[in-house]
Amino acid sequence: MKTRTEITVETERLVIINHRRRNAWCPSCARYVEMLTVDDAAILFHVASRTIFHWAESGVVHSSETPEGLLLICPHSPTFS
Ligand SMILES: [Zn+2]
Repeated sequence: MKTRTEITVETERLVIINHRRRNAWCPSCARYVEMLTVDDAAILFHVASRTIFHWAESGVVHSSETPEGLLLICPHSPTFS
């Protein structure tokens, strides 16, 4: 698969969560991106997990749900850049 990786957040922080990143379809970006879990996003952006959930619910950030119901957050959301 052709992936153009755009790391817009600090590499240093990404290393911590590297093993937990997963590729998922982002409907807002209309492409596959390396999604973050809610907790990873909370750590990365220094906010509470609850805040991330709220942002996802209100469409402030791009989000996607896995078949297992896990909420994933797109690091390319405008809020994060
Ligand atoms: Zn996105």
